[in-house]
Amino acid sequence: MILKGFKDLQDYLSAPKNIVIIGHRNPDGDAIGSTLGLKHYFDKKGHTTQVLMPNEYPDFLHWVPGSETVYRFDRQNNQSVKALAKSDIIFLLDFNALHRVGDDMKKTLERYENDFALIDHHQQPDDFKYMYSDTSMCSTCQMVYNFIEMLDDVALIDKNIATCLYTGIMTDTGSFRFRSTTSKTHRIIADLIDRGAENDRIHSNVHDANSYDRLLLLGQALSNLKIYPEYKTALITLSQEEKDNFNYQKGDTEGVVNYALSLKNIIFAAIFIEDKEQGIVKISLRSKGSFSVNQFARKYFNGGGHDNAAGGKSNLSMEETLTKFTSLLPNYKNELNQSYEA
Ligand code: 5GP
Ligand code: MN
Repeated sequence: MILKGFKDLQDYLSAPKNIVIIGHRNPDGDAIGSTLGLKHYFDKKGHTTQVLMPNEYPDFLHWVPGSETVYRFDRQNNQSVKALAKSDIIFLLDFNALHRVGDDMKKTLERYENDFALIDHHQQPDDFKYMYSDTSMCSTCQMVYNFIEMLDDVALIDKNIATCLYTGIMTDTGSFRFRSTTSKTHRIIADLIDRGAENDRIHSNVHDANSYDRLLLLGQALSNLKIYPEYKTALITLSQEEKDNFNYQKGDTEGVVNYALSLKNIIFAAIFIEDKEQGIVKISLRSKGSFSVNQFARKYFNGGGHDNAAGGKSNLSMEETLTKFTSLLPNYKNELNQSYEA
Protein backbone atom coordinates (compact mmCIF):
# COMPACT_ATOMS: atom_id res chain seq x y z
CA MET A 1 0.00 0.00 0.00
CA ILE A 2 1.23 3.50 -0.81
CA LEU A 3 -0.21 6.51 1.00
CA LYS A 4 1.67 9.62 -0.07
CA GLY A 5 1.05 13.21 1.00
CA PHE A 6 -2.23 12.40 2.72
CA LYS A 7 -1.88 14.99 5.51
CA ASP A 8 -0.94 17.71 3.01
CA LEU A 9 -3.88 16.74 0.83
CA GLN A 10 -6.22 16.86 3.81
CA ASP A 11 -4.98 20.38 4.63
CA TYR A 12 -5.24 21.41 0.98
CA LEU A 13 -8.86 20.26 0.82
CA SER A 14 -9.81 22.14 3.99
CA ALA A 15 -10.74 25.17 1.84
CA PRO A 16 -13.09 24.94 -1.17
CA LYS A 17 -11.31 23.88 -4.36
CA ASN A 18 -12.07 23.43 -8.02
CA ILE A 19 -11.63 19.70 -8.58
CA VAL A 20 -11.63 17.57 -11.72
CA ILE A 21 -12.05 13.80 -11.29
CA ILE A 22 -11.05 11.46 -14.13
CA GLY A 23 -11.66 7.77 -14.83
CA HIS A 24 -9.99 5.51 -17.41
CA ARG A 25 -10.82 4.99 -21.07
CA ASN A 26 -13.74 2.61 -21.61
CA PRO A 27 -15.01 3.28 -18.09
CA ASP A 28 -16.47 0.35 -16.16
CA GLY A 29 -18.70 0.25 -13.09
CA ASP A 30 -15.81 0.90 -10.73
CA ALA A 31 -14.57 3.90 -12.73
CA ILE A 32 -18.06 5.42 -12.90
CA GLY A 33 -18.97 4.57 -9.31
CA SER A 34 -15.73 5.80 -7.77
CA THR A 35 -15.54 9.09 -9.69
CA LEU A 36 -19.19 9.98 -9.10
CA GLY A 37 -19.13 8.78 -5.47
CA LEU A 38 -16.11 11.01 -4.80
CA LYS A 39 -17.78 13.89 -6.68
CA HIS A 40 -20.92 13.73 -4.51
CA TYR A 41 -18.72 13.69 -1.41
CA PHE A 42 -16.61 16.68 -2.53
CA ASP A 43 -19.75 18.60 -3.49
CA LYS A 44 -21.07 18.08 0.03
CA LYS A 45 -17.80 19.45 1.40
CA GLY A 46 -18.29 22.66 -0.57
CA HIS A 47 -15.90 22.00 -3.45
CA THR A 48 -16.77 22.52 -7.09
CA THR A 49 -16.23 19.28 -8.98
CA GLN A 50 -16.41 18.00 -12.53
CA VAL A 51 -16.10 14.36 -13.60
CA LEU A 52 -14.43 13.73 -16.99
CA MET A 53 -14.39 10.43 -18.86
CA PRO A 54 -12.20 9.87 -21.94
CA ASN A 55 -14.99 8.22 -23.94
CA GLU A 56 -18.39 6.57 -23.78
CA TYR A 57 -19.52 4.00 -21.25
CA PRO A 58 -22.20 1.32 -21.36
CA ASP A 59 -25.92 2.10 -21.13
CA PHE A 60 -26.25 -0.11 -18.05
CA LEU A 61 -24.24 2.50 -16.11
CA HIS A 62 -26.15 5.59 -17.22
CA TRP A 63 -28.56 5.43 -14.28
CA VAL A 64 -25.76 5.94 -11.69
CA PRO A 65 -26.51 9.14 -9.71
CA GLY A 66 -24.73 12.13 -11.27
CA SER A 67 -24.09 10.34 -14.58
CA GLU A 68 -25.82 13.20 -16.46
CA THR A 69 -23.16 15.66 -15.22
CA VAL A 70 -20.19 13.74 -16.68
CA TYR A 71 -18.30 15.33 -19.60
CA ARG A 72 -16.90 13.01 -22.22
CA PHE A 73 -13.49 14.28 -23.32
CA ASP A 74 -13.97 13.00 -26.88
CA ARG A 75 -17.44 14.54 -27.33
CA GLN A 76 -17.49 17.55 -25.00
CA ASN A 77 -13.91 18.51 -25.61
CA ASN A 78 -14.30 22.29 -25.15
CA GLN A 79 -16.10 21.97 -21.85
CA SER A 80 -13.61 19.35 -20.69
CA VAL A 81 -10.59 21.49 -21.55
CA LYS A 82 -12.18 24.49 -19.81
CA ALA A 83 -12.90 22.44 -16.68
CA LEU A 84 -9.26 21.31 -16.62
CA ALA A 85 -7.99 24.86 -17.16
CA LYS A 86 -9.81 26.26 -14.14
CA SER A 87 -9.17 23.29 -11.82
CA ASP A 88 -6.85 23.40 -8.80
CA ILE A 89 -6.24 19.66 -8.65
CA ILE A 90 -7.03 16.51 -10.64
CA PHE A 91 -8.05 13.23 -9.03
CA LEU A 92 -7.21 10.13 -11.07
CA LEU A 93 -9.41 7.18 -10.16
CA ASP A 94 -9.29 3.50 -11.06
CA PHE A 95 -6.18 3.66 -13.27
CA ASN A 96 -2.45 3.63 -12.63
CA ALA A 97 -0.81 5.53 -15.49
CA LEU A 98 -1.76 8.47 -17.70
CA HIS A 99 -1.74 6.43 -20.92
CA ARG A 100 -4.87 4.63 -19.68
CA VAL A 101 -6.97 7.68 -20.63
CA GLY A 102 -5.99 7.39 -24.31
CA ASP A 103 -3.58 9.46 -26.41
CA ASP A 104 -5.59 12.69 -26.83
CA MET A 105 -6.50 13.14 -23.21
CA LYS A 106 -3.04 12.03 -22.08
CA LYS A 107 -1.43 14.84 -24.09
CA THR A 108 -3.70 17.38 -22.41
CA LEU A 109 -3.02 15.98 -18.95
CA GLU A 110 0.74 16.00 -19.52
CA ARG A 111 0.55 19.80 -19.95
CA TYR A 112 -1.34 20.22 -16.67
CA GLU A 113 0.53 22.47 -14.25
CA ASN A 114 -1.22 21.78 -10.94
CA ASP A 115 -1.11 18.58 -8.92
CA PHE A 116 -2.53 15.11 -9.36
CA ALA A 117 -3.97 12.84 -6.67
CA LEU A 118 -4.30 9.13 -7.47
CA ILE A 119 -6.70 6.67 -5.85
CA ASP A 120 -6.33 3.26 -7.49
CA HIS A 121 -5.91 -0.49 -7.03
CA HIS A 122 -3.93 -1.42 -10.18
CA GLN A 123 -0.35 -2.66 -10.08
CA GLN A 124 2.73 -0.52 -10.76
CA PRO A 125 1.26 2.97 -10.43
CA ASP A 126 3.09 5.99 -11.84
CA ASP A 127 4.30 8.55 -9.32
CA PHE A 128 2.05 11.51 -8.45
CA LYS A 129 2.18 14.17 -5.72
CA TYR A 130 -0.64 12.62 -3.73
CA MET A 131 -1.22 8.87 -3.85
CA TYR A 132 -3.41 6.24 -2.32
CA SER A 133 -2.58 3.00 -4.12
CA ASP A 134 -3.43 -0.46 -2.84
CA THR A 135 -3.37 -3.48 -5.13
CA SER A 136 -4.96 -5.68 -2.47
CA MET A 137 -8.22 -3.74 -2.78
CA CYS A 138 -11.11 -5.29 -4.69
CA SER A 139 -12.15 -1.96 -6.17
CA THR A 140 -11.41 1.75 -6.28
CA CYS A 141 -14.87 2.28 -4.81
CA GLN A 142 -13.81 0.50 -1.63
CA MET A 143 -10.77 2.82 -1.54
CA VAL A 144 -12.99 5.90 -1.92
CA TYR A 145 -14.95 4.65 1.09
CA ASN A 146 -11.65 4.24 2.98
CA PHE A 147 -10.51 7.69 1.82
CA ILE A 148 -13.71 9.27 3.17
CA GLU A 149 -13.18 7.28 6.38
CA MET A 150 -9.60 8.56 6.68
CA LEU A 151 -11.03 12.08 6.41
CA ASP A 152 -13.43 11.24 9.26
CA ASP A 153 -16.45 11.84 7.08
CA VAL A 154 -18.23 8.47 6.87
CA ALA A 155 -21.25 10.20 8.43
CA LEU A 156 -21.53 12.29 5.23
CA ILE A 157 -22.11 9.21 3.05
CA ASP A 158 -25.67 9.61 1.81
CA LYS A 159 -27.83 7.60 -0.56
CA ASN A 160 -26.15 8.97 -3.72
CA ILE A 161 -22.61 8.31 -2.52
CA ALA A 162 -23.61 4.88 -1.16
CA THR A 163 -25.27 3.94 -4.46
CA CYS A 164 -22.21 4.93 -6.50
CA LEU A 165 -19.75 3.07 -4.25
CA TYR A 166 -21.95 -0.04 -4.01
CA THR A 167 -22.11 -0.18 -7.81
CA GLY A 168 -18.33 -0.23 -8.31
CA ILE A 169 -17.66 -2.70 -5.51
CA MET A 170 -20.33 -4.99 -6.94
CA THR A 171 -19.09 -4.84 -10.55
CA ASP A 172 -15.35 -5.15 -9.76
CA THR A 173 -15.89 -8.16 -7.46
CA GLY A 174 -18.22 -10.00 -9.86
CA SER A 175 -20.98 -9.49 -7.26
CA PHE A 176 -18.76 -10.21 -4.24
CA ARG A 177 -17.26 -13.47 -5.43
CA PHE A 178 -13.69 -12.76 -6.58
CA ARG A 179 -10.68 -13.45 -4.34
CA SER A 180 -10.22 -9.74 -3.59
CA THR A 181 -13.57 -9.68 -1.74
CA THR A 182 -12.84 -9.58 2.01
CA SER A 183 -14.83 -9.43 5.22
CA LYS A 184 -14.05 -5.69 5.21
CA THR A 185 -15.64 -5.43 1.76
CA HIS A 186 -18.80 -7.01 3.14
CA ARG A 187 -18.76 -4.68 6.17
CA ILE A 188 -18.49 -1.66 3.88
CA ILE A 189 -21.28 -3.02 1.68
CA ALA A 190 -23.46 -3.49 4.77
CA ASP A 191 -22.78 0.10 5.79
CA LEU A 192 -23.59 1.36 2.28
CA ILE A 193 -26.94 -0.45 2.43
CA ASP A 194 -27.60 1.17 5.82
CA ARG A 195 -26.82 4.53 4.25
CA GLY A 196 -29.36 4.10 1.47
CA ALA A 197 -27.92 1.91 -1.30
CA GLU A 198 -30.83 -0.16 -2.62
CA ASN A 199 -28.92 -3.34 -3.35
CA ASP A 200 -31.66 -5.19 -5.25
CA ARG A 201 -32.21 -2.22 -7.56
CA ILE A 202 -28.51 -1.71 -8.20
CA HIS A 203 -28.04 -5.38 -9.17
CA SER A 204 -31.08 -5.22 -11.40
CA ASN A 205 -30.10 -1.91 -13.05
CA VAL A 206 -26.70 -3.33 -14.00
CA HIS A 207 -27.45 -7.00 -14.68
CA ASP A 208 -31.01 -7.03 -16.00
CA ALA A 209 -30.53 -4.42 -18.70
CA ASN A 210 -29.82 -6.76 -21.62
CA SER A 211 -31.08 -6.03 -25.11
CA TYR A 212 -32.27 -8.97 -27.22
CA ASP A 213 -29.29 -8.40 -29.54
CA ARG A 214 -26.88 -8.57 -26.61
CA LEU A 215 -28.15 -11.99 -25.60
CA LEU A 216 -27.86 -13.22 -29.19
CA LEU A 217 -24.29 -11.87 -29.33
CA LEU A 218 -23.58 -13.83 -26.14
CA GLY A 219 -24.99 -16.91 -27.87
CA GLN A 220 -22.60 -16.32 -30.78
CA ALA A 221 -19.69 -15.85 -28.38
CA LEU A 222 -20.49 -19.10 -26.55
CA SER A 223 -20.74 -21.02 -29.80
CA ASN A 224 -17.19 -19.80 -30.62
CA LEU A 225 -15.80 -21.13 -27.33
CA LYS A 226 -12.69 -23.31 -27.60
CA ILE A 227 -11.22 -25.41 -24.81
CA TYR A 228 -7.60 -26.47 -24.32
CA PRO A 229 -7.95 -28.96 -21.43
CA GLU A 230 -4.24 -29.77 -21.17
CA TYR A 231 -3.61 -26.10 -20.36
CA LYS A 232 -6.81 -25.57 -18.34
CA THR A 233 -7.52 -22.77 -20.77
CA ALA A 234 -10.61 -21.67 -22.68
CA LEU A 235 -11.01 -18.87 -25.18
CA ILE A 236 -13.79 -17.02 -26.91
CA THR A 237 -13.60 -14.97 -30.10
CA LEU A 238 -15.87 -12.34 -31.61
CA SER A 239 -15.14 -10.99 -35.07
CA GLN A 240 -16.18 -7.54 -36.24
CA GLU A 241 -18.68 -9.19 -38.57
CA GLU A 242 -20.28 -11.12 -35.71
CA LYS A 243 -20.48 -7.93 -33.65
CA ASP A 244 -22.12 -6.12 -36.57
CA ASN A 245 -24.62 -8.96 -37.06
CA PHE A 246 -25.95 -8.35 -33.57
CA ASN A 247 -25.77 -4.56 -33.61
CA TYR A 248 -22.91 -4.43 -31.09
CA GLN A 249 -23.13 -1.62 -28.54
CA LYS A 250 -20.50 -0.51 -26.03
CA GLY A 251 -20.55 -2.82 -23.01
CA ASP A 252 -22.22 -5.72 -24.80
CA THR A 253 -19.20 -7.98 -24.34
CA GLU A 254 -18.54 -7.06 -20.73
CA GLY A 255 -18.45 -10.18 -18.55
CA VAL A 256 -18.55 -12.59 -21.49
CA VAL A 257 -15.02 -13.84 -20.72
CA ASN A 258 -16.31 -15.08 -17.35
CA TYR A 259 -18.39 -17.75 -19.12
CA ALA A 260 -15.14 -19.32 -20.31
CA LEU A 261 -13.81 -19.22 -16.75
CA SER A 262 -17.01 -20.80 -15.42
CA LEU A 263 -16.12 -24.12 -17.08
CA LYS A 264 -15.10 -26.85 -14.69
CA ASN A 265 -11.31 -27.32 -14.58
CA ILE A 266 -10.61 -24.10 -16.49
CA ILE A 267 -8.39 -21.61 -14.72
CA PHE A 268 -7.30 -19.37 -17.61
CA ALA A 269 -9.86 -17.67 -19.84
CA ALA A 270 -9.48 -15.23 -22.69
CA ILE A 271 -11.74 -13.33 -25.05
CA PHE A 272 -10.51 -11.83 -28.33
CA ILE A 273 -12.69 -9.11 -29.77
CA GLU A 274 -11.93 -7.74 -33.20
CA ASP A 275 -12.15 -3.95 -33.58
CA LYS A 276 -11.78 -3.08 -37.26
CA GLU A 277 -12.12 0.65 -36.62
CA GLN A 278 -9.07 0.74 -34.35
CA GLY A 279 -7.34 -2.04 -36.30
CA ILE A 280 -6.77 -4.11 -33.18
CA VAL A 281 -7.93 -7.22 -31.40
CA LYS A 282 -8.93 -6.27 -27.85
CA ILE A 283 -8.11 -8.98 -25.33
CA SER A 284 -9.53 -9.66 -21.86
CA LEU A 285 -7.88 -12.27 -19.65
CA ARG A 286 -9.09 -13.90 -16.45
CA SER A 287 -7.55 -16.53 -14.18
CA LYS A 288 -8.07 -18.42 -10.96
CA GLY A 289 -5.35 -18.92 -8.37
CA SER A 290 -1.71 -17.95 -8.77
CA PHE A 291 -1.45 -17.69 -12.58
CA SER A 292 -0.96 -13.94 -13.17
CA VAL A 293 -2.79 -12.66 -16.22
CA ASN A 294 -1.41 -9.20 -15.42
CA GLN A 295 2.11 -10.42 -16.17
CA PHE A 296 0.92 -12.35 -19.22
CA ALA A 297 -0.89 -9.30 -20.63
CA ARG A 298 2.10 -7.03 -19.96
CA LYS A 299 4.60 -9.41 -21.52
CA TYR A 300 2.77 -10.38 -24.70
CA PHE A 301 -0.18 -8.09 -25.35
CA ASN A 302 0.85 -4.58 -24.38
CA GLY A 303 -1.55 -4.49 -21.46
CA GLY A 304 -1.90 -5.05 -17.75
CA GLY A 305 -4.41 -5.07 -14.92
CA HIS A 306 -4.60 -7.32 -11.88
CA ASP A 307 -3.31 -10.84 -11.13
CA ASN A 308 -6.67 -12.47 -11.94
CA ALA A 309 -8.19 -9.93 -14.36
CA ALA A 310 -6.24 -8.10 -17.03
CA GLY A 311 -6.47 -6.91 -20.60
CA GLY A 312 -4.41 -5.93 -23.57
CA LYS A 313 -4.44 -5.62 -27.32
CA SER A 314 -2.92 -7.05 -30.47
CA ASN A 315 -2.18 -5.33 -33.78
CA LEU A 316 -2.11 -8.67 -35.58
CA SER A 317 -5.12 -10.17 -37.35
CA MET A 318 -7.52 -12.28 -35.30
CA GLU A 319 -6.06 -15.47 -36.76
CA GLU A 320 -2.46 -14.41 -36.07
CA THR A 321 -3.39 -13.26 -32.57
CA LEU A 322 -4.93 -16.64 -31.77
CA THR A 323 -1.88 -18.43 -33.15
CA LYS A 324 0.37 -16.28 -30.97
CA PHE A 325 -1.80 -16.95 -27.92
CA THR A 326 -2.11 -20.70 -28.35
CA SER A 327 1.59 -21.10 -29.16
CA LEU A 328 2.43 -19.45 -25.80
CA LEU A 329 0.38 -21.93 -23.78
CA PRO A 330 2.88 -24.84 -23.78
CA ASN A 331 5.42 -22.55 -22.01
CA TYR A 332 2.97 -22.23 -19.13
CA LYS A 333 1.78 -25.83 -18.94
CA ASN A 334 3.18 -26.48 -15.46
CA GLU A 335 2.15 -23.13 -14.06
CA LEU A 336 -1.37 -23.49 -15.41
CA ASN A 337 -1.76 -26.96 -14.03
CA GLN A 338 -0.50 -25.92 -10.62
CA SER A 339 -2.30 -22.58 -10.36
CA TYR A 340 -5.40 -23.67 -8.56
CA GLU A 341 -6.38 -26.67 -6.52
CA ALA A 342 -10.15 -26.93 -6.72
P1 5GP B 1 -11.30 -5.87 -18.88
O1 5GP B 1 -10.80 -7.18 -19.35
O2 5GP B 1 -12.55 -6.00 -18.07
O3 5GP B 1 -11.36 -4.83 -19.95
O4 5GP B 1 -10.20 -5.32 -17.87
C1 5GP B 1 -9.75 -6.08 -16.79
C2 5GP B 1 -8.67 -5.33 -16.06
O5 5GP B 1 -7.53 -5.17 -16.89
C3 5GP B 1 -9.08 -3.92 -15.66
O6 5GP B 1 -8.60 -3.69 -14.37
C4 5GP B 1 -8.40 -3.03 -16.65
O7 5GP B 1 -8.03 -1.83 -16.06
C5 5GP B 1 -7.19 -3.82 -17.09
N1 5GP B 1 -6.98 -3.62 -18.53
C6 5GP B 1 -7.81 -3.95 -19.54
N2 5GP B 1 -7.30 -3.62 -20.73
C7 5GP B 1 -6.09 -3.08 -20.48
C8 5GP B 1 -5.03 -2.54 -21.32
O8 5GP B 1 -5.11 -2.49 -22.56
N3 5GP B 1 -3.93 -2.06 -20.67
C9 5GP B 1 -3.80 -2.10 -19.32
N4 5GP B 1 -2.68 -1.62 -18.76
N5 5GP B 1 -4.76 -2.60 -18.50
C10 5GP B 1 -5.88 -3.08 -19.07
MN1 MN C 1 -11.43 -1.07 -10.64
